[in-house]
Amino acid sequence: MRDMPLISVEGVSKRFRLPRTASDILTGRPPAAVHALNNVDLEVHRGETLGIVGESGCGKSTLARCLVRLLEPDEGLVRFDGKDIGLLPQAERRAFNRRVQMIFQDPYSSLNPRMSVRQVLSEALSVHAMRPKADIPARITELLGLVRLPADAANRYPHEFSGGQRQRIGIARALAVEPEVLVADELVSALDVSVQAQVINLLLDLQERLKLTVVFVAHDLRLVRHISHRVAVMYLGKVVETGPTEALFATPRHPYSKALLDAAPELDPARQTRVAAARGELPNPLDLPTGCLFNTRCPFAFERCFAERPNLSNRGPAHFAACHLTDFGKPTPATIAAQ
Ligand code: SF4
Repeated sequence: MRDMPLISVEGVSKRFRLPRTASDILTGRPPAAVHALNNVDLEVHRGETLGIVGESGCGKSTLARCLVRLLEPDEGLVRFDGKDIGLLPQAERRAFNRRVQMIFQDPYSSLNPRMSVRQVLSEALSVHAMRPKADIPARITELLGLVRLPADAANRYPHEFSGGQRQRIGIARALAVEPEVLVADELVSALDVSVQAQVINLLLDLQERLKLTVVFVAHDLRLVRHISHRVAVMYLGKVVETGPTEALFATPRHPYSKALLDAAPELDPARQTRVAAARGELPNPLDLPTGCLFNTRCPFAFERCFAERPNLSNRGPAHFAACHLTDFGKPTPATIAAQ
């Protein structure tokens, strides 16, 4: 039996209301709303790296922000260590803010250009009283070493660093408060490929050394496969499949996951044929399809798919998919042998 999840997301929905238009006012209609998250269920287990993937606009960044409570869900709840994070008393809320840290795609926008790296890290260490004042300089040197930056980086300012180095400073700042969880939203997507590999390898090393739990949000399947123990695939604000990385990549059990993987042939250079990715356009998130959210693009859709929205159901060890076709992608002896 698995441990209680460190984080569990239960039925979370989030909408963003658009400004009222003249037509809304004239007709008395409420303003339209983007349905960014639609009844998301997800678990993150202690010490694992969970990759969250999906096309742009699928809600993965909104979900990441709900996990760290930068956004409040409209419905549903997020539990951390068994407790609803929306109901934490102030002291526990403060502890939660320390224990779960987010790292953003663009650390430059979150680093004050007028503060040296020493000031940035000192501030992080002081806010949560992580060290006595006298021990702060040594801890700053230690943090810079952890992210493989030289000790003299402390005296420099954000604009003096490259994008990859700034990302390391962002990681050092997050580590200053000794978190248990890092939520990395498109951590390396703004970096060159060679620099991406360095930052990803650093993250893998830190996860191992510091026993961190990592939520890695990305659109790059290759990176997600490389770094994650488990993967969650999102489509139109819903988790449609989740499972152990190799099982999900070898035998996706949801038609959308299969389309997404088939559209990325570089995942398997030996593969000769390229099956078409999901047909058609992503539906308008202002006006979601009834029934399965993927029914407008799914080649396997049948009557039930237009009437009833499927929930995640079990497809194998720790493997779940939200599809009425419970046999879709079922592993054969050959695919099992390949895993
Ligand atoms: Fe396709 Fe139906 Fe499964 Fe949705 S429920 S993915 S439409 S087969």
